[in-house]
Amino acid sequence: MAHSTAYPHLFQPVRVGPVTLPNRLIMGSMHTGMEEAADGADRLAAFYAERARGGAALIVTGGYSPNPEGRLDPRGHGGLTAEEVPAHRRVTDAVHDAGGRILLQMLHAGRYAPHKGCVAPSAVKAPINPFTPRAMDEADVARTLDDFAAMALRAREAGYDGVEIMGSEGYLLNEFVAPRTNHRTDAWGGPLENRIRFPVEVVRRVRAAVGADFLIMFRISALDLVDGGSPFEEVAVLARAVEAAGADVLNTGIGWHEARIPTIAYMVPRAAWRWATARLKEVAGVPVIASNRFNTPDDAEAAIAGGACDLVSMARPFLADPDFVAKARDGRGDRINTCIACNQGCLDFIFSGREATCLVNPRAGREGQYVAAPMTARKRIAVVGGGPAGMACASEAAARGHAVTLFDAKPTVGGQFDLARRIPGKADYAETIRYFAGRLKEVGVDLRLGHMAGVEDLRGFDEVVLATGIVPRRPSIPGIERTEVVSYLDILNGTRVAGERVAIIGAGGIGFDVAVYLLGEEAFEAHWGITRDPNVPGGVTQAPPRAVPRRITMLQRKATKPGAGLGKTTGWVHRLTLEQAGVAMMSGVDYHRIDDEGLHVSVAGEPRVIPVDTVVVCAGQEPQRDLLEPLRALGVSVHLIGGADVAAELDARRAIDQGTRVGLSL
Ligand code: FAD
Ligand code: NAP
Ligand code: SF4
Repeated sequence: MAHSTAYPHLFQPVRVGPVTLPNRLIMGSMHTGMEEAADGADRLAAFYAERARGGAALIVTGGYSPNPEGRLDPRGHGGLTAEEVPAHRRVTDAVHDAGGRILLQMLHAGRYAPHKGCVAPSAVKAPINPFTPRAMDEADVARTLDDFAAMALRAREAGYDGVEIMGSEGYLLNEFVAPRTNHRTDAWGGPLENRIRFPVEVVRRVRAAVGADFLIMFRISALDLVDGGSPFEEVAVLARAVEAAGADVLNTGIGWHEARIPTIAYMVPRAAWRWATARLKEVAGVPVIASNRFNTPDDAEAAIAGGACDLVSMARPFLADPDFVAKARDGRGDRINTCIACNQGCLDFIFSGREATCLVNPRAGREGQYVAAPMTARKRIAVVGGGPAGMACASEAAARGHAVTLFDAKPTVGGQFDLARRIPGKADYAETIRYFAGRLKEVGVDLRLGHMAGVEDLRGFDEVVLATGIVPRRPSIPGIERTEVVSYLDILNGTRVAGERVAIIGAGGIGFDVAVYLLGEEAFEAHWGITRDPNVPGGVTQAPPRAVPRRITMLQRKATKPGAGLGKTTGWVHRLTLEQAGVAMMSGVDYHRIDDEGLHVSVAGEPRVIPVDTVVVCAGQEPQRDLLEPLRALGVSVHLIGGADVAAELDARRAIDQGTRVGLSL
């Protein structure tokens, strides 16, 4: 077998239980929402098959519960009954036909199951679930063990190559292990040997049911990140016990869902948890998989080369690029469309009841839906603006064979994403610019950078796409023209430096980002109180108070909680970070004026003066479309995309999606 020279460790085959995998990159479990759809099986089959063709050594499905109590979907979906076996068979057949392997994840949600029938080791309510679980009695325990074994058998019948037993993230098995949630005094609680009995028994019963030639992966919580979690010494005991019971490979889980520490979002540094896997590997006798916040082949290669793990699991990066593995293998690692850990198209969608897709790759989860219109003629197309919308549109249109010219006034492409990458934690956003810049070159787009396109430049094109983005809104507050009042553009471009006392007008996504920028970088582990001390339960301590360089006040006119509109899975991190840094938040504000005393406002009718050195305006945006009417007047066929089309609630996901669709339609 030939090994890639760029990533020699990644492409070294590895024996895992009964199978030999061709490389070390696996697609980790991720719920997509397709699981519940009527046509879900066929769409999942297409989705996973594409990732298998792209080289993923092994795929793990989203979680399916062995019984109704453990289901995460309150409507009762999410199991694997005998009737559902044929549908699953279509998924496994598709993956096998594509040359891949696939495991079914068995997940009993325990006290996280969002319905009245939820159960747990003890009747202790989770802070993230309104329902208090019923404590399992001896009969429940015995029946649940039977259910795990029966489900594993059905998985085998459905053609899966094995199962992943979900033992982390604060779900049922993890709840038995940790004193935080297990207050039992019978054989399933109390001393460690009793607390680990349930997960160990699950593995033993599954192994007994399926025999030796079926892969069993166990996802172990290497770091709970909650008070009352397991110290590492106990994790090590559990690891050895599940191995002895029949687990072939250990996958790393990090953090319970109720932990108030981000574990996979962009503000978590790349490969942040590698150390936690490394110490698991030191005690494990079977291969160990690292996971959480790996998004490049380089980090995966380094983790394996450094001895921290044997394999690396990634979930979201396979949404962003189904060909991740093939590109790394073929020396085209720089052509990977990198997951930027924004969660906007995947987890935020799932938590809003929508199916997962991807901000940087709108085709994810919608395989076969982005179909190019038939080409009647090779057209000359001008795309004005090289932000996310323009880059996506130009590259799609050129890939179909059109002659595309992309103008941007700036010397580089990226648009506002080039500012986003300057926010602490958002450095990965530069990868999207790198990817699209490479793609534009690959498909032969004629780039005219550093050129502000005018009407004259656009004559003679068959189609003109305006992707000119936005102009920041400047509210008409008396004193807004004063020198201490700046735009977020001035601050993020570095043309202006904020003083010590700052007021931010507008508490939307950009207002929050500007506040984070003004507070500066902080070491991740220290900030969140994470400790590597193996004796500390859950690996978490009280974080020390943060030293802050500025006093910041954020304001908005709405009476709602500032930041309420931020991403579902990342907004809480921003709100908590700013709260920890003492940022003052004001809602229900009326702006009166800015003068030598400061910013005059009233809050719920009460006048206030906020002394300031700098006022940063982050008051939303308006479409930039000065070219629209002059072009229309000339009879040019014009299309609007991204912020130039609709600025309200614009984000890069919408910009890229719309750019892609228009690029395919021209
Ligand atoms: P833009 O990105 O604004 O690009 C427009 C481009 O057109 C610019 O490069 C401009 O130079 C060029 N242009 C304009 N007129 C002309 C002309 N006449 N000739 C040539 N060129 C021209 N979105 C998210 O989804 N997630 C985030 O986390 C996120 N964070 C952000 C953080 C910050 C600090 C900022 C500022 C924005 C953030 N955004 C985020 C918003 C996101 O960047 C925008 O939604 C997205 O860039 C809009 O894309 P667009 O292509 O419509 O326009
Ligand atoms: P935004 O989210 O719409 O917020 C605009 C803010 O300005 C609001 O707080 C609004 O609050 C205020 N505002 C609006 N009109 C005003 C006026 N006339 N006078 C004073 N205040 C006014 O827009 P944004 O912050 O500019 O962000 C732009 C887009 O980028 C967003 O839609 C977002 O999706 C995207 N983005 C996303 C992220 C992310 O992390 N996902 C980060 C940054 C940006 P009031 O009207 O209540 O005063
Ligand atoms: Fe990654 Fe964002 Fe795409 Fe989710 S939406 S897969 S986090 S790039």
